[in-house]
This record gives sequence, C-alpha cells and structure tokens, in this order.
Amino acid sequence: MPRNAVQPLDKFFNVMSLVAIVGRPNVGKSTLFNRLVGQRQAIVDSTAGTTRDRHYGKTDWNGKEFSVIDTGGYTVNSDDIFEDDIRRQVMLAIDEADVILFLVEVSTGITDLDTLMADILRRTTKKVILVCNKVDNYDQIYSSHEFYKLGLGDPYCISSMSGSGTGDLMDAILEALPAETSAQYEDDLPRITIVGRPNVGKSSLTNALLGVERNIVTPVAGTTRDSIHTRYNKFGMDFYLVDTAGMRKKGKVTEDLEFYSVMRSIRAIENSDVCVLMLDAEQGLESQDLNIHNLIVRNRKGCVIVVNKWDLIEKGNNTMKEWREFLMKKLAPFNDIPIIFTSVLNKQRILEVLQTAVRVFQSRKRRIPTSEFNDYILPVIEETPPPSTKGKYIRIKYAMQLPTPTPQFAFFVNLPQYIKEPYRRFLENKIREQWDFSGVPMQLYFRAK
Ligand code: GDP
Ligand code: GDP
Repeated sequence: MPRNAVQPLDKFFNVMSLVAIVGRPNVGKSTLFNRLVGQRQAIVDSTAGTTRDRHYGKTDWNGKEFSVIDTGGYTVNSDDIFEDDIRRQVMLAIDEADVILFLVEVSTGITDLDTLMADILRRTTKKVILVCNKVDNYDQIYSSHEFYKLGLGDPYCISSMSGSGTGDLMDAILEALPAETSAQYEDDLPRITIVGRPNVGKSSLTNALLGVERNIVTPVAGTTRDSIHTRYNKFGMDFYLVDTAGMRKKGKVTEDLEFYSVMRSIRAIENSDVCVLMLDAEQGLESQDLNIHNLIVRNRKGCVIVVNKWDLIEKGNNTMKEWREFLMKKLAPFNDIPIIFTSVLNKQRILEVLQTAVRVFQSRKRRIPTSEFNDYILPVIEETPPPSTKGKYIRIKYAMQLPTPTPQFAFFVNLPQYIKEPYRRFLENKIREQWDFSGVPMQLYFRAK
C-alpha cells in the first residue's frame, strides 16, 4: 500500500518507561516493589485471570504509567552473593531501564557492595535515584546523611514497610522519566517483535526474512531510545519490526539466567502489538519460555509461537501433532495460539511466520458489533446458563465488546459475583469458536446490570 493511501489518522503509541530497582540483598527491594506495584497488580490480576509476577509490573502516578522491575527478584538473592552477580545486575539495569532506583539501608551504613554498585552507577548517563530505605522514624534521617558519600546526591528517605516517603519518591521518578514517551506513527501498521531465549534463532530469522541489508523504509523518530521500531515493506506487507535487546547486545553478558531473558524481552514486548515467541525444537519448552509467554499475555499482546530448528528433529507421522498438544497443555490457560514449525536454516515456513503475525494483529483489532455479538452469545448462554449458586438464578441479560484497544467483553449480570472461573472460560472458548482470536489474549468482565 502506498504510504499516502494510509488513513491520515495519527496514531500515538505509548512507549512504556522502565524503572529498575537495584541494591544488595535485604535492603528491601521486593518490599518497595510491592509498595509501588502491589496494590494495583492485585486489582488487575483478579479480573484478567493471569498469573502474578512478583518482580515485574506496571504502576501509575499522577496519570502516568510505567513499568517497575525488582532486579533482585531475578538474581541470586542470598548473603553470599558474588560481586559478579551484582555487577551484572547493575549493568543490565543500566542497559535496559530509563530510571534506576538504587536502594541502600539506613541502619547498616555503607557496605562494600553498596560502594561497588555506586561506582558503576556513577558512570552511567542514566538517571539514578539514591533511596535510603528502612527510615522508619525521624531520628534515622540523620543517619541517612552518610550516604551522600556515595556520590549520587542526597538520598530519598523512605520506609518501604510503612510507605512513608514513597509519595515524594514517586514524584522524583516521574521527574526523571524521559519526557518523550510516545512515538508518533502516521499509520496503523503492525509492530512485531521476535522474542525468545538466546540462540533459538531470532537473528537468523530476522536476517532470513529481511536480508542483511534489511530493506529499511523509514526509521521512526521520537522514540525514547535509538529507533527501536524500523519500518519494512516486504512480501506485500508493511510492518514495523521492534528490535530486541538480544540482537543489539548479543553475547555481551552471560545470558543463561532467567533475569536476562526477562529483562531483555520486557521492553520489546511492551512496545509491540504482536510477539513472535521463538522456541528451540531441540531444547523444548523451558521455564524461561513460559516466563516470556506470561509477559506477552500480561501485556495483552498478540502471540505467535515458532518452534525453530525443526530440521534437527527426528520426525514421525505425528511429531507435529504431539508437539502441538504438548505446547497447548503447557501454555494453558491461554493456549489458543498459532504454532508454526520452522527451519530458518532451510527457509522452511518463515514467510508464514510474518503472515501469521499480521493476521493476529488484525484479529486483535477486531470489533464485533453488539447486535452480532448478542445474536450469537445469548443463545449459547441460554443453552448453558451459569450454574445457580446458593439457590440463586444467575442471569446474563446482555453483552458487548468494549471499545478498548484489545478485545474485552462485558457481560451484564444480576449477580456478577457468582460467575466463576470455569464459566468465564466456557464463554471465552465459545467466543473463540465463533470468531478468529487465535493468538489474542482477551478479557471478560461481569458487571451488575
Ligand atoms: P530485598 O532482598 O532487597 O528484596 O529485601 P526485602 O524486601 O526482602 O526485605 C528484607 C527485609 O527488610 C525484610 O525482612 C523486610 O520486611 C525488611 N524491610 C523492608 N523494608 C523495610 C522498612 O522500610 N523498614 C523496616 N524496618 N524493615 C524493612
Ligand atoms: P538468537 O540468539 O536467538 O538470535 O539465535 P541466532 O539467530 O544467533 O541462532 C543461533 C544458532 O542457531 C546459530 O548458529 C544459527 O545458525 C542456528 N540456527 C538458527 N536457526 C536454525 C535452524 O532452523 N536450524 C538449525 N539447525 N540451526 C539454526
């Protein structure tokens, strides 16, 4: 499609900022994380039916939304932590985050590990906020002055336990976040990203699809960092590919830890519409893969699963079917996802990956007119009504798709509190049977009529 044929509707896409909490073990990182994110997370989780990640989540302050990650949650968190672990934790936070909260603890004073971290943090151009935790009473504020010696300015005194001082800290975080957090697009094209563990074949796929010269149409200006979205026009498709950190900084640090794959995927996932989650057929499905899948679902992004290196697998008549069934079981409850078996090496089915990602992008935007939706779903409900609870009849009178960027459906019920998870899932499956939402997470809400 020629560019000027694209609808002139300006599209603003929020580029999510990332705040990382670093600090040695026991300074209170996870307590602070829960304080900043916990409350809101609980609300989101109860409706979305997703698993809770205790180390990564979104929060907002004065209407501005951003992500927070507790880096300690992904690293070895014991007292005999190695200097190297700390060093890597800090380096990665510097690479990936926009703002770094460096947590120290008032009662212990400055420890060797604090000094080590401060030495690294002083050298970065990223915003670093020094936070002195466990300041539970006024007297302790005096002791906090010592931390000025770390060379990172005056510390913000907080008590993560009671929450005191965290409001001021949030103000400081907002101030430090990059001003420009939305990129402007002149179009409504799919933003696709390829994610997965190291060595599954992400760069090989990118190169096979786009060639080494990469057919760049235009890089998008205005993103907070070096052009993370690049626009391509290939195979009759017009799309953006979001560069993953894994490609940028390949092999720079040991990447076998869960933390690295999570940390490196977050930004790419948040800033895309559809994520291609790549697996290595020889290695199967590991906890890191499930973590990335979970990140995709929690961010309500479209998902395509690619099982790569299919050439290395000994295949029988049912190998693909067995793989499919195995993956479906592991990825439940959200397992209505297209799965493609590729060999990038042999260029097998690689175009299908792109085509499928574009299809998922379209499905994710699908709007079902209210009358069409009710014409289908109300008879389904009549045939299989929600089971009555405590002798009470539960009636769903009416339903609709909400005008949200990702598929969400509201059901108006006399007693919404009695609709249980199995029935919610039943309705979701019925919706998926009727319309193609493959690869698209959806939310169902039950509201009082
Ligand atoms: P992490 O290892 O850095 O994630 O530290 P945690 O969040 O697990 O906290 C370590 C210990 O410090 C726990 O026993 C917390 O209850 C305690 N703690 C955290 N924040 C505070 C605080 O503001 N005041 C006090 N007195 N204790 C705290
Ligand atoms: P990334 O770290 O996920 O970007 O992975 P790479 O694209 O660098 O690939 C890692 C290794 O796997 C390289 O040696 C590739 O040549 C190899 N590889 C990639 N795709 C395939 C495939 O389909 N079959 C086989 N046999 N090897 C592959």
